[in-house]
Amino acid sequence: AAKANGGDQYQLFDPELAAASARKLKLENGLRRAAERNEFVLHYQPQVELESGRIIGVEALARWVHPELGLISPYEFIPIAEETGEIISLGRWVVKTACKQLREWQDQGHHLVMAINVSPIQMKRLKFPGFVASELKKNGLSPEALEIEVTESLMQNLDESKRIFNDLKELGVKISIDDFGTGYSSLSVLGAMPIDHLKIDQAFVRFMDTNPKLRPIVKTIIQLGENLGVELIAEGIEEQHIAEELTAYGCRYGQGYLYSRPVPPEEIVRMIEQEHAV
Ligand code: C2E
Ligand code: MG
Ligand code: MG
Ligand code: MG
Repeated sequence: AAKANGGDQYQLFDPELAAASARKLKLENGLRRAAERNEFVLHYQPQVELESGRIIGVEALARWVHPELGLISPYEFIPIAEETGEIISLGRWVVKTACKQLREWQDQGHHLVMAINVSPIQMKRLKFPGFVASELKKNGLSPEALEIEVTESLMQNLDESKRIFNDLKELGVKISIDDFGTGYSSLSVLGAMPIDHLKIDQAFVRFMDTNPKLRPIVKTIIQLGENLGVELIAEGIEEQHIAEELTAYGCRYGQGYLYSRPVPPEEIVRMIEQEHAV
């Protein structure tokens, strides 16, 4: 790539770079129509109580099935949607779809907590707490069944975020800091926000065995959560011995490929029914 050649050796045409920007342009344009064409789907990843392995909730994760390019990862399309502003309507669709799904599960007798990811951009531009309140009401859901996940790294305007969070808190929904430990303002965020859960970033959990420095960091985050009186959810648990270790350190909840990848909603029901059968 042009960049790798160093600043003084820019090529006039870089085919790799050209392909990347063509793809990005395609995604930018596609995003505008994706919702009305029903190209988004939500998959759900179980959140479990580590000690029992019991499913207590799910995290809704957006997927985009592009008509030409196939399945696009949210790691790729969410940042683009944030840039173009499409995140506002996508975010609305996520809230609506997740609430409808939760209603359906409750009607089937499955009482789960639904965690959704919300972009700070979306939180600020919509009248977000009011929108959430109306979707809950529309579906006859109690607010405790909904959990809002936000990444700390993007909460730059603390005062504004604090107001929004306080409104959500008043509404009764749960608030969770996603990817904890990888942002810039971890500790000041914790001091200022009414937080219910901390999610330990998978970057720490997944590599505990390979990088010996990560274990003390994980332990410290768990201690911090305990001292603050917030629940901890470890992300990216791929192995049983890691789950056991985390439990021993005092972390009660987790999610990861060990339990399940994100799956379509029918799969969640299947897993819960299997749980009840044993
Ligand atoms: P996140 O909220 O931190 O979600 C966790 C990501 O880690 C998910 O990737 C999940 O599939 C993956 N994961 C879970 N367990 C494991 C594991 O054991 N090992 C490994 N290697 N990975 C695991 P996914 O679904 O690709 O989502 C990526 C990110 O995109 C999410 O990170 C979230 O920040 C964002 N995102 C996804 N859906 C939405 C959405 O509806 N709205 C917004 N604003 N962001 C979303
Ligand atoms: Mg999340
Ligand atoms: Mg995360
Ligand atoms: Mg993340």
